Amino acid sequence: MKHVIDGLEVASADGRTFEVRNPATGALVERVAEGGATEVARAVDAAQQAFDDGRWSKLPVSQRYRILNRFAQSIEDSLPSLSTLESTCTGRPLREMSAQLSRLPEFYRYFAAVARTAEDSLTPFEGPYLSYVRRVPLGVVGQITPWNHPLLILTKKLAPALAAGNTVVVKPSEYTPLTTLQLAKIALEAGIPPGVFNVVAGFGGEAGRALSSHAGLAKLDLTGGTETGRVVAQTAGANLVRVNCELGGKAPVIVLPDADLEKAAGGAIFAAFIATGQTCIAGARILVHESQAQDLIERMVARAVSLRMGDPLLAETQLGPLVSERQLQRTEEYVAIGIKEGAEIECGGKRATSGALGQGFFYEPTIFADVRSSMRIAQDEIFGPVTCVLTYKDLDEAVRIANDIPFGLGASIWTSDAAKGIKLSERINCGVVWINDHHRIDPSLPWGGMKASGMGREAGIEGYREYTQTKSVVVNLDEPVDWYATTKTLRLS
Ligand code: NAD
Repeated sequence: MKHVIDGLEVASADGRTFEVRNPATGALVERVAEGGATEVARAVDAAQQAFDDGRWSKLPVSQRYRILNRFAQSIEDSLPSLSTLESTCTGRPLREMSAQLSRLPEFYRYFAAVARTAEDSLTPFEGPYLSYVRRVPLGVVGQITPWNHPLLILTKKLAPALAAGNTVVVKPSEYTPLTTLQLAKIALEAGIPPGVFNVVAGFGGEAGRALSSHAGLAKLDLTGGTETGRVVAQTAGANLVRVNCELGGKAPVIVLPDADLEKAAGGAIFAAFIATGQTCIAGARILVHESQAQDLIERMVARAVSLRMGDPLLAETQLGPLVSERQLQRTEEYVAIGIKEGAEIECGGKRATSGALGQGFFYEPTIFADVRSSMRIAQDEIFGPVTCVLTYKDLDEAVRIANDIPFGLGASIWTSDAAKGIKLSERINCGVVWINDHHRIDPSLPWGGMKASGMGREAGIEGYREYTQTKSVVVNLDEPVDWYATTKTLRLS
């Protein structure tokens, strides 16, 4: 597959390509053009030209609304093939990918409607003036995305960016560029003009770096690891490019003593092992009252060992492989660290090698007990099917442990008393708190982290606004004052 730049499929200038492999089997899926500074510069130029000539940014919003709705419909029509390709490249079960991608059209329709219904404001400017504030697009936006939810994460950025009238250059993850390239072609067919949505495939250190250091961007929006966020924010910041970063996380799942333990165990397993634990809000710290720990652990283990691991494309599969050898090694290293730190493995703890699983990057769902909050397995983002159970004596201790981590993206609270859950949510330092649920998102819900989980918000009205900037216009309704022709004391409002 090739880059999509200015409406054309283009190879890299030097002809380089890289392999995309299926993590369940190791088989080659496709070779993809490997871009660098040349392709990024070409894509940013195309996006700048498209922005400047107004083919998208100056279209009446009613027309952008119609085209984005057509795009949403085309995505809906392509869901089976997109889901299969996404599942093949990420290793995530087709059931998960189909459920996730079925949400995409909603995001484009929601943001098209937000743009279509957005109202500008009139400010109470003192004096004989009419002053109004308009929201205008930013310009060319760079978007760098990860491999764990390739199209969903792109969509959370792309839908508001396009709805607001920006033009975009995307650098998808080197592990999963295929569906993003496919989406760019669908966009063209749906009537999004050439040059508005460009994709350059390639590696973070080269294509990603070239995009984040391009001085022509109006904004850079990254979803990735916290260390990548620090690098990218510095690089883009040096050019005074505004930066949005959605970064790592390690979500606490707080089980209150009044919770239904069976439901809480189901919720904890869902929080921890969906996407084989490769989510930024993976329930990786399960907090339970010390008197109930054994009971909860037994229920969680019973569920974890019964998860069906296998070919992601089979309907019955519940747990796929990790995305890469690197993620598998990272998981193995952290399990070894956990054992060394003195935590107890309740289930899992090893690579799955039986039968066909041995060819892929499969790892058994792993639950650690006897974990202290200070242990590395409880602090670092492992990004694999590993969760830790920690105990608390009272609510204050539960809050202390929940907040005792550099991340602050998501958390869940399990209780039979919603009021208790709401009160507790006020004390948890993170961007989203679910009560009796986990992993739920909506186009209308602002998304983003506190602390080392990032800066800025995506989705919701707030996410839309972050893809716009204000332009204030002040109209003098009287005769202009001739400042130097009078000696009267005048106010400059
Ligand atoms: P990553 O940081 O390795 O890569 C993310 C993207 O950044 C990729 O496209 C990569 O090529 C690019 N990149 C890497 N180094 C770069 C550099 N120096 N300059 C520019 N671009 C660079 O992350 P990943 O392994 O793909 O994804 C997993 C991480 O993403 C986890 O930490 C996870 O928590 C995080 N994540 C966060 C959210 C969120 O909403 N906060 C959602 C999903 C994933």
